Amino acid sequence: MPLNRRETIEIARLIEERREALVQEIRREVARSRNEQYTEVAGPVHDRADEALADLVADLDNAEVTRDLGELRELEGARARIADGSYGVCADCGGDIPLARLRVQPTALRCVACQERHEKTYRA
Ligand SMILES: [Zn+2]
Repeated sequence: MPLNRRETIEIARLIEERREALVQEIRREVARSRNEQYTEVAGPVHDRADEALADLVADLDNAEVTRDLGELRELEGARARIADGSYGVCADCGGDIPLARLRVQPTALRCVACQERHEKTYRA
């Protein structure tokens, strides 16, 4: 892990904050979408675990929620990488991802150079 303990704690906190905000956002979106059909769902939704949340919105045709869920999964992935010590290591070249980049994008999987190459490859 290229980050020291203090930096890891800082990034982990960023991830948690973003995660919390996203979960709230998704719950609001789901409640709003569902309210039009099932008013009584708004209560139970609030107490569900995140995984159940994903199931709940799976059949919801809502682009915003789908995008938020994608980001939520990326955050879960980042959390898992922190837990197993692989966080902050570029998935392509194995080099350290700079802290400045991780602060801006805690879910980053690659260093800037590899990310640009990756995007170019997949756009083509
Ligand atoms: Zn790289």
